[in-house]
Amino acid sequence: MTGYEYLLGDINTIKGVGVQTAKLLKKKNINTVFDLIWSLPHTNIDRTQLFKINELQIGKIQTVIVNVKKYNFPRIRNLPNRVTCVDETGVLECVFFNSYEGYIKKILPLGRSVTISGKISYYKNKYQITNPTHISSDTNVVKKIHAKYNLTEGLNEKKYNSIINTVLKKLPDLDEWLSEDVLKKFGNISWKDAVLQLHDPSNVKRKGNFLNRLIYDEILSVFLTNSNVRKSIKKVKKTKKVFTENPFKEIKKAINFKLTEDQLKAIDQINFDLKSNQKMFRLLQGDVGSGKTIVSLIAALNVISSGFQVCFMVPTEILANQHYNFAKNIFNKNIKIDILTGKTDRLKRKNILIDLKNNQINLLIGTHSLFQDKVQYKRLGLIIIDEQHKFGVKQRKKLSDKGGKDCDILVMSATPIPRTMIMTCFGDMDASIIKTKPKNRKTIKTYSKLDTKLPEVIKFVKKHISNNNQVFWVCPLIEESKKIDHQSSIKRYENLKKIFKDRVGLIHGLMDKNDRNSLLNDFLNKKLDILVSTTIIEVGIDFPNANLIIIENANKFGLSQLHQLRGRVGRGEKESFCILLLKSNLSENARKRINILKNSTDGFKISEEDMKLRGYGDLLGFKQSGIQTFRLADPILNEDLFLLAETEVKKIEKKDNFKNYINLLKLYDRADILNDLV
Ligand code: ADP
Ligand code: MG
Repeated sequence: MTGYEYLLGDINTIKGVGVQTAKLLKKKNINTVFDLIWSLPHTNIDRTQLFKINELQIGKIQTVIVNVKKYNFPRIRNLPNRVTCVDETGVLECVFFNSYEGYIKKILPLGRSVTISGKISYYKNKYQITNPTHISSDTNVVKKIHAKYNLTEGLNEKKYNSIINTVLKKLPDLDEWLSEDVLKKFGNISWKDAVLQLHDPSNVKRKGNFLNRLIYDEILSVFLTNSNVRKSIKKVKKTKKVFTENPFKEIKKAINFKLTEDQLKAIDQINFDLKSNQKMFRLLQGDVGSGKTIVSLIAALNVISSGFQVCFMVPTEILANQHYNFAKNIFNKNIKIDILTGKTDRLKRKNILIDLKNNQINLLIGTHSLFQDKVQYKRLGLIIIDEQHKFGVKQRKKLSDKGGKDCDILVMSATPIPRTMIMTCFGDMDASIIKTKPKNRKTIKTYSKLDTKLPEVIKFVKKHISNNNQVFWVCPLIEESKKIDHQSSIKRYENLKKIFKDRVGLIHGLMDKNDRNSLLNDFLNKKLDILVSTTIIEVGIDFPNANLIIIENANKFGLSQLHQLRGRVGRGEKESFCILLLKSNLSENARKRINILKNSTDGFKISEEDMKLRGYGDLLGFKQSGIQTFRLADPILNEDLFLLAETEVKKIEKKDNFKNYINLLKLYDRADILNDLV
């Protein structure tokens, strides 16, 4: 068995791990020996100092050397067995519940000197240790710093430590995968030594070369995987898309604004990819409101004009409708656009599927339903995915494969995440970044107000409406329960209706599609002044005339979510406002977060600050999203290691010596998507 086979073997191959223990560990998602390595001691217990019995302190964990003097085994149910031990200064009694005499006699042989460590108590004028776990005739076995692990229920500390120690003892020497230069940066520590140090109980603070090396290994494995996915997709030779400048010229006339430098640059980069014979796999990244939609629609138009079909996937139905309407507005009438969502009725759906197969639809916009097996295209040339941060590397690779060889991929994201996370989550793609927002945008003024000041807020709203502006009113997200959100939005709606009469609309997730669309249209056409809603307005929707947003119970939202919500206003030319309504008893942390939002409108900065406060795991629900998470690495704290890995991957790509790292990838469980690559 090679070292790798051992590490990737099932935990039940570890000596001492039986069926029951294996079951308990697997419950905690520890399936292989390798997995076990990353469940780390969270603290340690120092048993190094020796005490005399008369120096013992009640309640502390202390270590003594004693002589075993007398047994007292009462042979009555529920009465504990006792062993009297002494040193020259006093008496210590060891009390055993549920332990057999034979076992006690073995660990505490009469007349012998033993070292005992445990929590000291005092009972009937005697020092006691109850159920001592650390006893040995060899002082050095007890007298040391012991690691304390987060225990799995049903496993005791002794068992756990013994399993981990078995693994650490058998830890194989692996061939070094790091380059000499990089290894030197980590004091030339090998993977094995680094893992040993990681578990060294005197290291629970965990700092130094050993840790950095292991963090780096982890990052490198992700980046190398990304790099390879990208390379494999690039390898696919596709039919070049052939198109002229005309569609672009036409659309420029149809829109009432001038494209920004960054938008033009992104369009150029995309066009270059479309016209090449390599498959495009590109991320279009830009903060909310930076104008990604028009860029993607121009790409769609070019692809259509070269005789291919395009599908455009968005996360919500409302957004699908909005993109659909926008495209209808600016595209030439002979381009056939349709929309398919989970709510599309059966007959319509049937017709769409037929039209699609006959190339009677050029652009299909919709939600997840676009990727069901039944949906077959005649000649799909481009897939656009909007606002879909929940797509991980593996899913994108699958999508690209499913699209077929001629299908280019454009993914759009406003997910404001730090660069280190972009490299992690989107490193498999080329990136176009829209940094600057359209010039006419004013910054959004953000205020926080106690919810007891509601009358003032209402006054402010009235003033806005009298200036011919529109208002979003986002209702409290009390719990992750649609029903409660729904109730609270109804309550607010009825309340506002008393003041603003029929100029208020309510839109919520339980609503019928047609009702919802007609309401949205009423709002767009200014038949309504206020739109009360739950967070369904969160992603992507565009209402240029709305320039005030009120968010109730704002502290219940994540910062990035608040930023997205706030991004619903400030899209037109007027000055915009965001009012965060808060309860008075905010936690320190909540107050800090609200302040970050008030002081910045830069999504990247906000997300970085948010991460510092909350830890990256919480960010946008990354943990639930199936997107890459790390065991050790932290995209904020370890930025330098992320950057080092980035540089190194470029070198590896250049030298084309990726094969040296295949064991690293196998070990870190990235190799499965590479199976068809290597
Ligand atoms: P996002 O990047 O968040 O998806 P959108 O594409 O929805 O942003 O664009 C937001 C709004 O800005 C839309 O109304 C869009 O038509 C408009 N817009 C896009 N580009 C420009 C521009 N260069 N100048 C002015 N307005 C623009
Ligand atoms: Mg958008």
